[in-house]
Amino acid sequence: MSNRREELSENLNAIKSRISVAAQNAGRSAEEITLIVVTKTFPASDAQILYELGVRDFGENRDQEASAKSTELPDDCRWHFQGQIQSNKLKSIANWADVLHSIDDIAHASKLNSLVTSKDIFIQVSLDNQPNRGGVLPDLIPEFLEEISTFPNLKIRGLMAVAPLDVEPVIAFQRLKALSDRVVKMQPKAHEISAGMSNDFEAAISEGATHIRIGSQILGVR
Ligand SMILES: *Cc1c(COP(=O)(O)O)cnc(C)c1O
Repeated sequence: MSNRREELSENLNAIKSRISVAAQNAGRSAEEITLIVVTKTFPASDAQILYELGVRDFGENRDQEASAKSTELPDDCRWHFQGQIQSNKLKSIANWADVLHSIDDIAHASKLNSLVTSKDIFIQVSLDNQPNRGGVLPDLIPEFLEEISTFPNLKIRGLMAVAPLDVEPVIAFQRLKALSDRVVKMQPKAHEISAGMSNDFEAAISEGATHIRIGSQILGVR
């Protein structure tokens, strides 16, 4: 075993047991939580090791990097895009990404809808009321949901968010859960929640996250 393999294996196992404990504390099953390992900035060789350790869900933020990396891994991987979207990159992103977590613009959604026959998406919510960091403002979510629901080729999985720096993660993720409950009333199928990163995933699990996105705690500092 190479050192890197050992390191990734240990880190992955540690995260998995923390997910189990957090799920148990929340009265949830760990099986309803998808761990997305965020491999951005790390080489395909790391992703390959993680694949051999059983990881199938990979998260990336940059089109060019992910596009290249995804071709080096087996076909049964699921690639998650969670970065800022540039309209002229959408076609390329749609080629490799199975799920887009960062949809916050109706024009992007409309364009994506015209490029694909079926694509899974999350709507990104801004939890700090500062839309410059990405995400739809909470008050605008019902309207956004109505508009995006008119695109037949987009499958809306639910809401995605990044916890703001100036709010306790638990408080932020409670807001997200409350918003998700409103969304589910409008769109019962859009019940999933993509939330939680290396430093706050336990709080996200306690507030109902179904997809957590972990990078540095598994791969190391970027
Ligand atoms: C980079 C990134 C992550 C992973 O962050 P870590 O703190 O390294 O776990 C998760 N979500 C998004 C949107 C990211 O950009």
